[in-house]
Amino acid sequence: MKRVGLIGGLSWESTSSYYTMFHRFTSETAAPWVQPRLLIDSLDFSEIVTLQRLGDWDATGAILIDSAHRLQDAGATVLGIGANTMHMNFDAVADAVTIPVVDIRDAVISEVEAKGATSVSLLGTKYLMENDFYSGYLEARGIVVVKPTTDEVEELHSMIFTELTQGIVTDESTSRFMTIAANCRRRGGDVIALCCTEFGMLVDERNAPWPFVDSTAAHVRALLAY
Ligand code: GLU
Repeated sequence: MKRVGLIGGLSWESTSSYYTMFHRFTSETAAPWVQPRLLIDSLDFSEIVTLQRLGDWDATGAILIDSAHRLQDAGATVLGIGANTMHMNFDAVADAVTIPVVDIRDAVISEVEAKGATSVSLLGTKYLMENDFYSGYLEARGIVVVKPTTDEVEELHSMIFTELTQGIVTDESTSRFMTIAANCRRRGGDVIALCCTEFGMLVDERNAPWPFVDSTAAHVRALLAY
């Protein structure tokens, strides 16, 4: 029996989006009341935030590996890490378990390619933007990556940690986000890649004036398809 395991709580806001999307996407094709079997291991995000600030990626990796073992032992047949930034530890997690781990970066790439695009505006946390585990991965697959300016990176990072991961959505941040995305697009990143699992709180089909890929939705679709 198939059962998706999700390392969640990164943050709880986005895990709640994952949970909703797992069911919404399933209901688009399945009979009523058919639901995916899920195991969610919801972590204490404060521990992760502290370690991220220290740049202690070995320690974040250890927490994720521990969670992955719990999910595998509980019967998950496939795993997802429910955040883009924590794909910094993807290889360590994938090596630590025997079940497959679906990579959010592959899910994003598939949806970018499905749009016939070859360039993205990459938007996410400062950790994601300043290290190359994400942009390098996309570039290795032939995608041109455009990033925001240093000030815009700071602004997005602060939005993620002082607002979105604490459940706060404001018109001002939505409007700033739109401006930053449009700036990147002008510099050549055709598809806006929402590579923070909370960005869907600001942008969706109803208000996006440009083509975009929501990493949360892409990841859920890839996990369900697996
Ligand atoms: N959920 C976020 C992401 O997709 C940010 C939180 C974190 O730093 O893990 O990157």
